Amino acid sequence: MVYLTKASHPHFFNQLSCGLDLVSMAGEWLTATANTNMFTYEIAPVFILMESVVLSKMREIIGWDSGDSILAPGGSISNLYAFLSARHSMFPGYKEKGLHFIKGQLVMFTSCESHYSVKSCASVCGLGTDHCIEVPADSRGKMIPSELEKLIVEHKSKGNIPFFVNCTAGTTVFGAFDPIHEIADICKKYKLWLHVDAAWGGGLLFSRKYRPTRLDGIERADSVTWNPHKLMGTLLQCSTVHFKDKMVLTSCNTMSADYLFMQDKLYDVRYDTGDKVIQCGRHNDIFKLWLQWRAKGTEGFEQHMDRLMELSEYMVKKIKSMPDKYYLIVEPEMMNISFWYIPKRLRMMPHTSERIKILGEIVPKLKGRMMEAGTLMIGYQPQGNLPNFFRNIISNAAVRSEDIDFLLAELDRLGQDL
Ligand SMILES: *Cc1c(COP(=O)(O)O)cnc(C)c1O
Repeated sequence: MVYLTKASHPHFFNQLSCGLDLVSMAGEWLTATANTNMFTYEIAPVFILMESVVLSKMREIIGWDSGDSILAPGGSISNLYAFLSARHSMFPGYKEKGLHFIKGQLVMFTSCESHYSVKSCASVCGLGTDHCIEVPADSRGKMIPSELEKLIVEHKSKGNIPFFVNCTAGTTVFGAFDPIHEIADICKKYKLWLHVDAAWGGGLLFSRKYRPTRLDGIERADSVTWNPHKLMGTLLQCSTVHFKDKMVLTSCNTMSADYLFMQDKLYDVRYDTGDKVIQCGRHNDIFKLWLQWRAKGTEGFEQHMDRLMELSEYMVKKIKSMPDKYYLIVEPEMMNISFWYIPKRLRMMPHTSERIKILGEIVPKLKGRMMEAGTLMIGYQPQGNLPNFFRNIISNAAVRSEDIDFLLAELDRLGQDL
């Protein structure tokens, strides 16, 4: 076994955040050297201004001309900020009065394919996970809007208080996009907060080619999570959350600590962003993103996204050209490619539930061989009714089509006798 995986190697297809962007890395080095905290303008002036410029550019790309945003320690915490802001905007008295201010049981909705951090909001914030309602998804992993509406009506009739819907733009396993417009219509009808979790899929907002069919309607959300450390290849950690309402983040989280956030300072105290968050000090996650964006440009990010999609399409095409060896599980919308490898002894067997069961058992064994050989890493998991299958991720800018050829040949080399 090795003690350190090379997560930037083009044969590491294991995680949503892969690769090593050198400019972003240079940014991280300078950040570490400056070693400054991000809570007040007075100690991090230029970095605070970079946050302001970059986040406002990201909101513009989402489709908003105002609003507010913050960098959070990961997409899970970004989703938590969205939850807190939704509850605050609907029940502002909760902040001072606590649980008893809300007369009734709050319920939130998210698809069964969404990231587990959404459910964790229900546990962390006192709803209980039973009140995070899982909405069924279709065979491609997309939330079914009519099922959402049915569940909202059902909970209202029980006397519960629906308040929050999470719509995933790029699910963690299948890379599926929930239909934003249809979900937004339902949120409007029942006056619910719409959050779009684009932690993974957000990068595609850059792509004029893929945005219209994947992310159209995102501008109708009340809040959006978007992780540059995933598709955009910014160094870990870099996650952002955006709000359409300019005031909600401050109003929800401000504690106006006298010793840090004095109101009589020399400068505009709105730049003291530390009072908008549930942390006190914050790490500087902006410089590496700002520098990377300066180097690549917005068009560079667009080309990067289109290239990753092109490689994913290449891999799908190759998989389909070898139906004896590979079985594609869903037609992907993103860079997640879900498939089974078929060893020699199963190639003539009809694709029944019996074969699916055996294919699922082979997955962890083949992963074990990959790790022992040290030549390749691909993630796997079960999902819903499906047993284990591989989920290959192409998010490393260093991947070339030759690496995809290698991946498929190597799996066959390691697994044909299983
Ligand atoms: C990765 C991911 C998250 C969590 O982000 P972290 O930065 O790992 O906390 C949330 N939602 C989705 C859809 C994700 O893919």
